[in-house]
Amino acid sequence: MFKPIDLPYAIEELEPVISSRTMEFHYGKHLQGYVDNLNKLTSGSIYENWPLERIVRLTGGAIFNNAGQVLNHNLYFEQFQSPEKAVGDEDVTAVAPKLAAQISAQWGSVAAFKEEFAAKGVSLFGSGWVWLSAKSDGTLVITQEQGAGNPVTREDDSAGGAENKPKRSRSYSGTPKATLRPLLTFDVWEHAYYLDYQNARASYLKSLWTILNWKVIEERYTVSL
Ligand code: MN
Repeated sequence: MFKPIDLPYAIEELEPVISSRTMEFHYGKHLQGYVDNLNKLTSGSIYENWPLERIVRLTGGAIFNNAGQVLNHNLYFEQFQSPEKAVGDEDVTAVAPKLAAQISAQWGSVAAFKEEFAAKGVSLFGSGWVWLSAKSDGTLVITQEQGAGNPVTREDDSAGGAENKPKRSRSYSGTPKATLRPLLTFDVWEHAYYLDYQNARASYLKSLWTILNWKVIEERYTVSL
């Protein structure tokens, strides 16, 4: 049985950035709905005991859509904390030293990274997710994913040249290729922000930085290095 993550904070703790009412619908109804659908679709099948990431990488259709949305929402809700603990750009280095160093190396500053990330969230057409992911060499990449998309479906092209990279294909070995590792995500489906921000997606995205728990993102980054 698949389950939603247990929230690492109380339902009202993200206010005023994300209201209790949004949490009641988004976590309590939308995520629960995806979990219920996934359990119905996989019960008694080979997918029943697969890790979510594997299902997302290797399936399509309704199973992919529901598994993707469970995985995406678990990562989304896990990465927040109360705005009372907000970390300014200048303090990200203290909380997430390895990630901050890599962000600065690629974007120049945490502020410049945040600007590009939020802009990609604003420009994503329709429903989807904007992601920061790591490649196996530690470099970072921002991607936009439609619908239930997750970067674990994207191949990591950084692992050396073709000559020292074993050619693996799941079609004959069952082993998936190396993929991007998701670190941080902002949900840009309207259900994530409409009750609190109506159509102002940019304001919602800007506010999310004040509840981002950089420690969680740093852990996701360092565990994948
Ligand atoms: Mn959502």
